Amino acid sequence: MKQNQALRRDFLRYVGTLAALSAPALSAGASEKNRVDFPPIYDKSEKPEQTEPPGDPLNERIGIAIVGLGRIAVNEMLPAFAQSKHAKPVALITGDRAKGIKIAHQYNIPESAVLDYGDYDKLAQMPEVQGVYIALPNSMHAEYTVRAARAGKHVLCEKPMATSAADCQKMIDACRKAGRKLMIAYRSQYEPLDRALAKMVREKKLGTLKEFISVNSQNMGDPQHWRLKRALAGGGALPDVGLYCINAARFLSGEEPNEVIGNTWSTPGDARFREVEESCQFILRFPSGYMASCTTSYAAHKSQTLRLNGAQAWAEMNPAYAYHGLKLKVVHLVDGNDEASDIQIEEKNQFAAEMDHFALCVQQNKDVHTPGEEGLQDQRIMEAIYESARTHRPVKLLPPSGRVRGPEPQSDGGT
Ligand code: NAD
Repeated sequence: MKQNQALRRDFLRYVGTLAALSAPALSAGASEKNRVDFPPIYDKSEKPEQTEPPGDPLNERIGIAIVGLGRIAVNEMLPAFAQSKHAKPVALITGDRAKGIKIAHQYNIPESAVLDYGDYDKLAQMPEVQGVYIALPNSMHAEYTVRAARAGKHVLCEKPMATSAADCQKMIDACRKAGRKLMIAYRSQYEPLDRALAKMVREKKLGTLKEFISVNSQNMGDPQHWRLKRALAGGGALPDVGLYCINAARFLSGEEPNEVIGNTWSTPGDARFREVEESCQFILRFPSGYMASCTTSYAAHKSQTLRLNGAQAWAEMNPAYAYHGLKLKVVHLVDGNDEASDIQIEEKNQFAAEMDHFALCVQQNKDVHTPGEEGLQDQRIMEAIYESARTHRPVKLLPPSGRVRGPEPQSDGGT
């Protein structure tokens, strides 16, 4: 009984320490000389006020060209610069100049820095652009990454990295040859609750990891959208949203799968799924015996969850993978009964966190946490899942040829 109470106290204390993951970074490269301090106003018995460190002066931030002005760039990444401390948008690449000018005015970008795709290589003559953020349809990522590297720019590329492992390798080689950084925008890996869960696993708080169970589904409408065209998307639900499950199964466990089993389905006659799969179910087997069972669909009501079952506890994110409102619950046995703890960590803008990680790595010439090798490994796994679905057999996977992930982000906030 006493031992159980001690265990419970330890666990609750541990959960308390996870909240530190939301604490502002003290030394993530932000310019302390511009900090403005206020005297405390709350009683000493209260939690001390936590304030974010100041951002870098604008002239010291990494200048980013946004390549492609679609939903993710306009609705998420550009507004997130307001919370960025190390990066600023300085150029826009778009096929629609009128749209580009409207957006340029919102972000104080000169009209001369709104370029057409045909002028992309002119980035080489724009020293104010140090990095590009590529937010184009999936099959265009490779070409625009290779050309950015040749123009001497660092690259933050949206997921999925590309539509073939061969293209992923070309992107890695081009950036390596040019001596430029290549980061894939796996925003969950910079998100505090996901990071808290990965930390719990590393510290064995769930015991030996046994199962990962996850769903990432959404219901697509317009059959003409590029996401439903094989040449632009590379596949259907799997590379777009199923990818989150693959990546989470890997980064939360720190393991790489050695065998996959996959199955795909498209409803006959559904105009949306003439070229790409509607849904995909897959199992990833890992050398330790840990297994991931995942399902992803382009024709089911939005559903985003993950659950990690360990020998001593389980953890659930519901929703998982979303931009906002993520929730993490951990359940373990106390005095013979299951006890649940909701992990309360302040929400951070995931897009700002990943952009700031990229910008800090450029400023400080450090390795990024989610490099091209991370995207290549997910692409290898997706190709094996498709092969398994085609052949109705399990497909073996060799381990990646080297490290797939760089050092952990410097700040607990994910940058
Ligand atoms: P979108 O359709 O809203 O935008 C795509 C942009 O590419 C548009 O501005 C479009 O005009 C432009 N484009 C240029 N050439 C094109 C062509 N030949 N065909 C179609 N469009 C062309 O798409 P989106 O949702 O912004 O997705 C862009 C990328 O971002 C994709 O790779 C996607 O997987 C990724 N994404 C990532 C997240 C995330 O959370 N990390 C979320 C959504 C999308």
